Amino acid sequence: LTEEIYDVVVLGGGAGGVPAAIRAAQLGGRVAIIEGRELGGLCMNRACIPFGHMSVASDILGSLSLGKEMGLDCKDTSNNYSTLLKRQNELIEFMRMGIMSMLKKKGVEIIEGQGKIAEKGKVSVNGNTVAFKKLILATGATWAKPDFPGADSGEVMNSDDLLKSEKPPERILLFGKRPWIFQIAQCLQRFGSRVILVTEDKRILSEESKTVASRLSKGLKDEGIVIKTHSEILDAAKKNDGLHVKLKTKDDPETVIVDRLLSVERQASLKDLGLENIDLDEKEAYLKVNDRMETEAPGVYAIGDLTGRQSRHYSHLASEGGIIAAENAMGHEAALNPRTFTRVVFTQPQVACAGLTRKEAIKAGYEVVVGSAPLSMNPFGMILAENEGIVEVVADKSYGEILGVHMIGTGASEMIGQALMAIQLEATLDDLASMSFPHPTLSESLAEAAREALGRPIYIP
Ligand SMILES: Cc1cc2nc3c(=O)[nH]c(=O)nc-3n(C[C@H](O)[C@H](O)[C@H](O)COP(=O)(O)OP(=O)(O)OC[C@H]3O[C@@H](n4cnc5c(N)ncnc54)[C@H](O)[C@@H]3O)c2cc1C
Repeated sequence: LTEEIYDVVVLGGGAGGVPAAIRAAQLGGRVAIIEGRELGGLCMNRACIPFGHMSVASDILGSLSLGKEMGLDCKDTSNNYSTLLKRQNELIEFMRMGIMSMLKKKGVEIIEGQGKIAEKGKVSVNGNTVAFKKLILATGATWAKPDFPGADSGEVMNSDDLLKSEKPPERILLFGKRPWIFQIAQCLQRFGSRVILVTEDKRILSEESKTVASRLSKGLKDEGIVIKTHSEILDAAKKNDGLHVKLKTKDDPETVIVDRLLSVERQASLKDLGLENIDLDEKEAYLKVNDRMETEAPGVYAIGDLTGRQSRHYSHLASEGGIIAAENAMGHEAALNPRTFTRVVFTQPQVACAGLTRKEAIKAGYEVVVGSAPLSMNPFGMILAENEGIVEVVADKSYGEILGVHMIGTGASEMIGQALMAIQLEATLDDLASMSFPHPTLSESLAEAAREALGRPIYIP
């Protein structure tokens, strides 16, 4: 047996683990990253990147009607799903190679294999023991397989299975509440599937601004996607004409017939990590950490999907946590800012939310003021026919501090970065209202929403 001693060992080479390892090495540490499957993790190989790639294609299809309105000839709109998948897989392969060479260039040692905590200060992998001063756990989450009767049927799939399908299913039911199901639903519908979305919640995106969520819901329904809220799956049974899915709805129970049922619900994967060897409990729903990403075990940090409910499973949160954990592990001081948590839905139009909703701000004890600016009144929004777009700014009434920004519209995932900066820098409504955003851009609506909150909008009657 050989034994190596590292300043920092990172277990899991996904969205959180890779930046954690690079940051620790930048700070002078001897660092190893252990990955049991593919570098880049879920995000790069089977989630954000492949589905982001599909969404770009889906957005192009969705923009054809605007092109037609502008007089462009868009007659040949056939699509070739296998070409899409081929480009996607080549891109992912290219990115994976990029990550591997980046880690090596930054001085991080890559260990391939499934790691397990053997005892305090030691991880076992491939029959060897790797000793560490600090450990960063970054093993992500796994699919939470549904448990209704019939869920074992081959027709019930997760997002990995969908990526392996050679063509979109003719009829599909998507179940759950994660933002990705709306993105996947829209892509599939545009690529020819007939899509039914089912959620137990009263409305889609139940934790986000009602205005934004209802506009997304309308947009998806207008495209022909059937949305069933307040509904549960009772069971599923395969018959000659397809999978019969029995639903308990708020009205009468009903059965829908589809070819596939997709669920993307996930849970933190704490099993088989050897947590018991450092006095942590693998039976918890997720690993608890403080804002420095420290677990209750001394010298052991945890980041990403492993550390929270699935409403907090986002790549950027995993990466931010990774950098914070690495800095603390290397003796620096860093902490997560809970205010800047950003949520995005990559549909067309996109939804993007940062910071507190009105409801959360009131619950946190603020006297709240909300300003909004519809993109249908923004000149660039008019060019883009942004009929459903809107920007909402939530602020504290007494000092005007911006607490949250919520939007739906083209490019919202990019525009939210500006809002994020305002929240991070503790900007006020006055600061935002006086920003000279370039014209014509949708960002101008951020300033207008702030002015509306101050009772002095320029372009809203
Ligand atoms: C369909 C879908 C679409 C999504 N789209 C987006 C999006 O657009 N934007 C976004 O922000 N988020 C998105 N997410 C969520 C995002 O993918 C995750 O939040 C993110 O990947 C979490 O990063 P992580 O580092 O915690 O875990 P992961 O990226 O899952 O990485 C964990 C790594 O640890 C490895 N591992 C696990 N156990 C061991 C072990 N014992 N030894 C060695 N290695 C191990 C795994 O193989 C894996 O590579 C999406 C998720 C899904 C399901």
